[in-house]
Amino acid sequence: MDTELKLRMQEGGIHPISIETPFSMGNVNCYLIEGNPLTLIDAAVRTDSASDKVTRTMKTLGYEIEDIEKIYLTHAHPDHLGLVSWIMSKTEADVYVSPYELDLATDFEGEMKRYRESARNLMFRCGVPEELYNEMMITRKKFGPPFEPINAQTVKDGDLVKAGDLILKALHCPGHSKGSTCFLAQDAGVVFVGDHVLPRITPNISHWIEPLQDSKLQALHHYLSSLRSLLSFSNYVALAGHGDVIPNLGKRIKYILNFHEERLGKVLRVVSKGVCTPHEVSLAIFGKVDGWSLQFAVFEALSHLDYLEDEGKIRRVDSDSNDAIRFHLLK
Ligand SMILES: [Zn+2]
Repeated sequence: MDTELKLRMQEGGIHPISIETPFSMGNVNCYLIEGNPLTLIDAAVRTDSASDKVTRTMKTLGYEIEDIEKIYLTHAHPDHLGLVSWIMSKTEADVYVSPYELDLATDFEGEMKRYRESARNLMFRCGVPEELYNEMMITRKKFGPPFEPINAQTVKDGDLVKAGDLILKALHCPGHSKGSTCFLAQDAGVVFVGDHVLPRITPNISHWIEPLQDSKLQALHHYLSSLRSLLSFSNYVALAGHGDVIPNLGKRIKYILNFHEERLGKVLRVVSKGVCTPHEVSLAIFGKVDGWSLQFAVFEALSHLDYLEDEGKIRRVDSDSNDAIRFHLLK
């Protein structure tokens, strides 16, 4: 991080904490914001080394875990929600999450059980052979012990909240997840982007089994439009859920927009060769992938197919909710 950036962070009382994970995505970040109330943005993974790292970092700054007063979650995925229940066993911190992910944050295990059943059915409908699916489930690594239910409150699009001595504006940015929320600190010129924008990889965009409220549009449509909406803050520094600081948010957003445009072109070329399943498209785009990446790859392919269908370029052919899903080109 360069000196100017360091200064900007120090002035805002922002301390990034980078935490190792046992997963392929590498380290995850959470951010301590000093001041009143002492605030944590995201809560890492549920491992002993994560709780040790957060404890040690806070101690060097003169704080105990018990001092945390507010936790804001950029989204309720297990690598960002991990330590919430542990922190809440030590303090009465208030936890905030998007209303679209309140159920997931408060009853993670129950929601995941429901999701896994639907996702299994969808994987088969996407053309994934049963033996490949079973292999994937064997390799699935768990995010530590089961998550206990927690209490949380909602933070909605446009809400202004106090985090340390900063005022943060919540921006609902659906795409990577339904409730993904960025937190804009205008005075510091910084935005906490969670996994909405990442410095090295493009965030995974999946297929949503239940659409977002009344919208018929699928995840990639929401993602690209919420990504474009952040272009108004192009010169902001982005602090992401994984990886290094993004010094210029606008530059990174333009790269990701361009990346998806190219990928949509590739998917369209695959479908133009004949009727195909999302699994076949995933193989053409990502090749053969191992372990849990299979579900990411198939659902990411499906999210691009959904987008092209919404654009009227291809048509989905399946007669009911158990039928195989296939796409063909619309001439
Ligand atoms: Zn993440």
